[in-house]
Amino acid sequence: MKYLYYNSEDYLCFEKVDLSSTVATYPTPFYIYSAEEIRRNCKDVLSCSGSLDFLPCYALKANYNPSLLKIIKQMNFGTDVVSGGELFFALKSGIPPEKIVFAGVGKSKDEISRAVNEGIYSINIESKSELDQVMTVANKLQKKIVIAIRVNPDIDAKTHPYISTGLHSSKFGVTRDMALQLYRQASQSSYIEPSGIHVHIGSQIETIEPYLATVKFLKALITQLEDEGIPIRYIDLGGGIGIDYQHQLNGNEKPNTYIKKILPGLLKPFKNEKRKVLIELGRSIVGSAGLLITKILYVKETPHKKFIIVDSAMNNLIRPSLYNAYHQILPLNHKENLTEVVDIVGPVCETSDFFAKDRSLPVLNEGDYLAITGAGAYGQALSSNYNLRPMIAEYLVEDNRVQTIFKGESIETIASKYKT
Ligand SMILES: *Cc1c(COP(=O)(O)O)cnc(C)c1O
Repeated sequence: MKYLYYNSEDYLCFEKVDLSSTVATYPTPFYIYSAEEIRRNCKDVLSCSGSLDFLPCYALKANYNPSLLKIIKQMNFGTDVVSGGELFFALKSGIPPEKIVFAGVGKSKDEISRAVNEGIYSINIESKSELDQVMTVANKLQKKIVIAIRVNPDIDAKTHPYISTGLHSSKFGVTRDMALQLYRQASQSSYIEPSGIHVHIGSQIETIEPYLATVKFLKALITQLEDEGIPIRYIDLGGGIGIDYQHQLNGNEKPNTYIKKILPGLLKPFKNEKRKVLIELGRSIVGSAGLLITKILYVKETPHKKFIIVDSAMNNLIRPSLYNAYHQILPLNHKENLTEVVDIVGPVCETSDFFAKDRSLPVLNEGDYLAITGAGAYGQALSSNYNLRPMIAEYLVEDNRVQTIFKGESIETIASKYKT
């Protein structure tokens, strides 16, 4: 299934859209997404569940554009939200409350009240103080709420330290002993039903081993809880399945998203149980479905390096600066076979403002366009106005037509928010 490939004239195509036609119409830089690729990723997830009572949730923080949420909702996914803002967007997109789970270490009283009032599927508790707060809110509103305790299994997801969340040194979840205490405390309350268990060990995970170690940990804890008379009805396994950032250009095959490599084995241990199983995937749903399209402003040679200076920057896509993350970069017109080693950098006044370092690419010229691939997750969602650079537009390829799904900001709209 071709979705990112060069056509016979060496132009880069996204689904059936020749991207050089988009840069002729729309000013760069911009994000462009494929609706069909999002659907394919959702279908991959759904195809792994068999007869399991299964609720796949989309981790909204990866990309909160409402047009993408609509596609994901149509695939019958729920959502995993981590703020009142995300809860608002999820509800506004028509995701039913009974398909929403709410995680995060610092939910405010207002955010908890909204979640309880809406009757969402689960609030995932990350500390004793937070449980106390949820109990207070539920008592005051006299409303029942189902909760899960997020446990920290102390398992190394073997990913970048900044996106590893399942070690005891991280701020997320509670230890096994604390979890037991919290379940006992919660089961005393008439408004709280502590019937779920939640883990999320990290992101961009490429192998099943850390997940299987987590399952083993969970099963032991569930047995202990049920022995104490605390039944566990659902297990939320978190997210973190990686994508293949190195190979987004796919020729005839869909890039390997690791969904099919990891998910069947992860779900298998639950096949013979009556419990509901949730997962919370962000990157593996939208990551491969987005490109950042940028134009080369200048080529700058120094005695040591050749810099390709482009019109997008770390404020648009911070992953290389933040995690030294790799994104495959492709010229929109691959006319040149000769390669050279360059740094691709943006205009922001920081040395960390780069998209690639010492990367071998076809020889590039000023005025050429590039696609930075694998940019659908944690791209626009992590953008900022640093250096007073407005947020950029987002487009969606649907039925091989391109539509605007976010207009982008102008400097005037930013200025108008300030006291003058
Ligand atoms: C970020 C996050 C996810 C999604 O992570 P991905 O790597 O994008 O799949 C899932 N659950 C929780 C609690 C998260 O914080």
